[in-house]
Amino acid sequence: MITARGTRLGVLGWPVAHSLSPRIHNAALAAVGRSDWRYQLLPAPGELLAEIILALPGAGFAGANVTIPHKLEALALSTRATARARAIGAANTLTFGPGGEIVADNTDAPALVAALPFAIADRTALVLGAGGSARAAVWALLDAGAAHVRVWNRTPERARELCAQLGGEPETSARPADVLVNCTSVGLDGSSPFTALPLSADGLTDFGCVVDLVYAPAGTRLIGAARDRGVTAVDGLELLIGQGAIAFERFTGTPAPIEVMRASVGRYKGVAGAAPGGRGAGVAHASG
Ligand code: NAP
Repeated sequence: MITARGTRLGVLGWPVAHSLSPRIHNAALAAVGRSDWRYQLLPAPGELLAEIILALPGAGFAGANVTIPHKLEALALSTRATARARAIGAANTLTFGPGGEIVADNTDAPALVAALPFAIADRTALVLGAGGSARAAVWALLDAGAAHVRVWNRTPERARELCAQLGGEPETSARPADVLVNCTSVGLDGSSPFTALPLSADGLTDFGCVVDLVYAPAGTRLIGAARDRGVTAVDGLELLIGQGAIAFERFTGTPAPIEVMRASVGRYKGVAGAAPGGRGAGVAHASG
């Protein structure tokens, strides 16, 4: 909806002050000449989420991203959802249509597949975690034709439940695979992935590619250890940019300027790949 103040976008979360999405999206909007569009933080405590979402279209919002802890409720509040958002059970992108329509999508899933350095079809993956992002990862990898997706989780029954719902095979150790995806929050506080997870640093060479959904200004220890051993690694910032790029295209109908989005967060200098809808190297640099 276009208003006198222009069109607005935002990210709903609680807390949300740390989000890099405004920086990424405002850089992209400027780069494609949407000078009357703005992307902003939308702090939303749980008890106000429904009220805030319902008020957004009337306030000039074309859409919103959704982050922790609202991805499940965002899906529940939508009037229509993509098949992948419904299967995953979580939405990270809402677009607002005429007549109060709220369309939910999950762009975390395609962003993961697009960021991999090779096609996952007929290959194997090990997913660590059984929370919301693990659900998106397992669904995405299976949907892209992975031969096996094994799921390890600290609380094993959650891995079993996830696999019963989405497919995949519960796992109790870190068996070698073409792709390792860390969908736990381990590493967020600088903690070692090699104590909390069934991994050793040298064992990372058992994987063709290591993906860490967690991101940190200087890169995570998991990504650093993989790169130190020559293992291709995709960090969480690249996935954040990838999911944001797909959402940007939903919101604006315009191809996302992915290099501008990378440059806006300062750690990606001309890295190829991870274009939405396409495959590329998608390999992040450690830090910068
Ligand atoms: P979530 O639903 O809360 O799930 C957290 C997962 O981490 C659970 O599997 C939990 O295991 C596991 N975990 C937590 N602490 C652990 C520990 N000390 N040792 C072992 N496992 C532990 O979270 P989520 O939404 O899936 O997000 C997970 C992470 O991905 C977060 O850090 C989030 O910021 C990040 N993320 C990044 C992006 C991106 O764009 N880069 C997108 C989505 C999420 P239990 O089941 O045993 O509790």
